[in-house]
Amino acid sequence: MKIPMVDLQGQYAKIKDTVDQSIQEVLNSSAYINGPYVKEFQADLEAYLNVKHVIPCANGTDALQIAMMGLGLEQGDEVITVDFTFAATVEVIALLKLTPVLIDVEPDTYNMDIEALKKAITPKTKAIVPVHLFGLCANMDAIMEVAKEHNLYVIEDTAQAIGANYTFKNGQKQKVGTIGHVGTTSFFPSKNLGCYGDGGAIFTNDDDLAHTLRGMVNHGMYKRYYHDVVGVNSRLDSIQAAVLKAKLPHLDSYCDARRNAARYYNNAFANNPNIITPSTKSCGAICDSCDCHVFHQYTLQITNGKRDDLHQHLLDKGIANAIYYPVPLHQQKAYKDDRYNEEDFKVTNELVKTVISLPMHTELTEEQLALITETILEFVG
Ligand SMILES: *Cc1c(COP(=O)(O)O)cnc(C)c1O
Repeated sequence: MKIPMVDLQGQYAKIKDTVDQSIQEVLNSSAYINGPYVKEFQADLEAYLNVKHVIPCANGTDALQIAMMGLGLEQGDEVITVDFTFAATVEVIALLKLTPVLIDVEPDTYNMDIEALKKAITPKTKAIVPVHLFGLCANMDAIMEVAKEHNLYVIEDTAQAIGANYTFKNGQKQKVGTIGHVGTTSFFPSKNLGCYGDGGAIFTNDDDLAHTLRGMVNHGMYKRYYHDVVGVNSRLDSIQAAVLKAKLPHLDSYCDARRNAARYYNNAFANNPNIITPSTKSCGAICDSCDCHVFHQYTLQITNGKRDDLHQHLLDKGIANAIYYPVPLHQQKAYKDDRYNEEDFKVTNELVKTVISLPMHTELTEEQLALITETILEFVG
C-alpha cells in the first residue's frame, strides 16, 4: 500500500457529477473571465466567512501582494512576519521593496511569537503579517492588541487555514482571515479549499479598501479602460470559480475529516517521549472538538535526533511525508540580511531540524492511519 500526502483523485471522485456539470456550464457559456460563477462563488464565500467583501484573484501569493498594495504600503515601510512559513509571505514584501522583518515563532503552536513581535516594532513598522501555519489560528487576541496600540495593519495569511474558527478570550468566534484589516488565502489544489489550478482571494470588511482592491486585481480599472491606480492582472478564472463553488459546501466536512485523522494520530502518538504532537492551544480551548485547527498539515516534532532517518524510512515503506520547512527564511539566500541575529531565531532554527509532516487529507482511511502510525512508532520507539 502506497500512501500519498494528499488524495485529490479520491476527493474528486465523490463530487465528480457536480464539478463536471459546473465546468461544462462554463464551457457552454464561454464566459471564461469574470463570468457569473466568479460572482456566485464570491457571494457564497462572503456568506460562509461572514465577511463583507471577498475579492477573488489568481493565487495566494498575488492576494498577499495586492493586499499590501491596497493598504498603500511604500518602500521602506517595515512589515513584520514569521521566519517559519512558506516563502510567498516574505517574497511579496521584498518584491514591493518594503522591508521584511522576520521574527521567531512559538515552540508549541509554530505561530508568531508575541514577545518577539513587540520587540520588533520600530517607528517604521506599518504592518504585521501573521500566518495561521499548518491550519492553526495564530494568537489573534494578542496580535490585534499590539496592532491597535501601535496603529499597524494586520494582514492575515490564511492560505493554510481557511475554515478555521478563532475563539477570542471573550468566547466569541470568528473565521480566520476576517479578523485583521485584510486576510488572504490560496486555492492551490492541495490547500484545504483547493481548485483545479491556481486561485486565491482577499477578504476585508473595509468598503473603501475592497473597492481599491477590486480595481487593483484588474489593471487598476474601475471603469473600463480608465486606469486610476497601478494594478496587476490577477483574476480568478471562471472554471476555477465553478470548481470552488461546487466544493465550498463541503469545506466544513473536509475540515472535520482532517480533524478526525489528526485525532487518530494524536491518540496513537500520545505520551511517546520522542514525539511532540501538534498543539491546539491558540484559542485557549485544548479540546477534542476544537475548531481553531483545520490541519492543513499534521506536523510532528521528532525529538530524538532521528527525524531525517524517519523521513527516509517512511519513504522506503511507501509512506509519503515532507519537511515543512527545511530552512528558516532568514537563512535563505534571497532573504539573508545582516540585520538578523541567530540568537533571535532559536525556535525556528530548532524546528527545521525536528518537524515532519505526515499524510493529511480528506480521504485517509483507518487502515492507512494504522499503517502510518504503526510504522512510525516501530521506528521511533
Ligand atoms: C500556499 C501558500 C501561499 C501561496 O499561495 P499560492 O496560491 O501558491 O500562491 C502563501 N502563504 C502560505 C502560508 C501558503 O501556504
